[in-house]
Amino acid sequence: MSSYPLSLNLAGKRVVVIGAGIVASRRVPTLIEAGARVLVIAPSVTESIYQLGEQGSIELHLRPYEAGDTAGAWLVHALSNNAAVNEAVAFEADATGIWCVRADQALLSEAWTPASTSVDDITIAVTAGGDPRRAAAIRDAIADQLKDGSLPVRRVRPADGHVVLIGGGPGDPDLITIRGRRALAMADVVVFDRLGPTVLLETLADDVELIEAGKGPGHHSMTQDEINRVIVEQARLGKRVVRLKGGDPFVFGRGSEEVQACVAAGVTVEVIPGISSAVAGPAAAGIPVTHRGLANGYAVITGHQLEDLTPLAQMQLTLVVLMGVATLPGLVSGLVEAGKLESTPVAIIEKASTKDQRVTIGTLASIVKRAAEVGVRNPAVIVIGDVVTVPNLLAAESSLHQFSG
Ligand code: SAH
Repeated sequence: MSSYPLSLNLAGKRVVVIGAGIVASRRVPTLIEAGARVLVIAPSVTESIYQLGEQGSIELHLRPYEAGDTAGAWLVHALSNNAAVNEAVAFEADATGIWCVRADQALLSEAWTPASTSVDDITIAVTAGGDPRRAAAIRDAIADQLKDGSLPVRRVRPADGHVVLIGGGPGDPDLITIRGRRALAMADVVVFDRLGPTVLLETLADDVELIEAGKGPGHHSMTQDEINRVIVEQARLGKRVVRLKGGDPFVFGRGSEEVQACVAAGVTVEVIPGISSAVAGPAAAGIPVTHRGLANGYAVITGHQLEDLTPLAQMQLTLVVLMGVATLPGLVSGLVEAGKLESTPVAIIEKASTKDQRVTIGTLASIVKRAAEVGVRNPAVIVIGDVVTVPNLLAAESSLHQFSG
């Protein structure tokens, strides 16, 4: 049957509901929410409808339908469990030019309520050949895809510019959060780094502007000040700016400086956390950063942290080092001088969670030579501590590299 979809502004409008069973207890709250003045007429009602009447949220008449009850209504719901009553209500409504939704006889009805829901500012309404469960299943599938950003949710009409810092996770496009994926799908401009799930950029529309922070306008690396300036400028042009970063924005990502720049400029900014390579890098190699009996905690440092290693060396902590490939020899000798045993296991995970992931294992005594032999390069996470032995304990039926590649 052909039909004409329409959304109604029911604020202050009279809506008459005949019948007060289960279907009515689901419909009436949505009518109230839409601002309608609801009159329910039924000889017996569910507890929830009764409560709404007591609260004054609806007008409730505890009696059977009588001719003339639909007078003054903009919309009627015939929800009685008595088909003859629904038919009489529908007939009266039709005769007086009022739309009537019949719950019992979709095919005889003059109007339908679609299966509907809202995601952000998007309302989805689905009808499916008069089959409400099929419509609801389709609605849910669409809602899921709106939430995870796999549908083109980007707004076309101008809005207020803003900045969203998204932690993209370590690189595998499946390891971004659902919220991050959705915010990415809404972007007009994306300022991105080399690290993180850059393949997701291919899913964006052609007119979404992509700016690689590593390669600015003149193909030089943008300085932090330039990045801050670009995101603020673009937001001020009314663009939805996404700053897509590897891992988590607040773990050695200078995300907090970008937030400060936005706040100082009066630009609205949101931060969506991500899975940091500090934890996901080791995990991609099967290495837990804590393990009962092996590490009481973990510390995340950069390779530039070569002083004050003594407290770190003396605690039973896993050390996770980011940006540490270049300074590995200095770090290793510093830790040994600070009292860390030369036999302490070390793992280096390059390009964690991508198809090019490589794991190099050694000890503080051997790792510098080993890393040079295999040619370890950035990006890599270095893990120092007894936890590195955990995958070996499990090695036999290893399901360890489950989310690498
Ligand atoms: N904010 C990021 C870290 C930024 S610093 C996060 O939370 O992960 C950049 C460093 O992160 C790199 O030098 C490297 O040490 C590490 N890194 C990021 N992604 C990585 C990956 N997929 N594999 C290995 N190391 C990674």
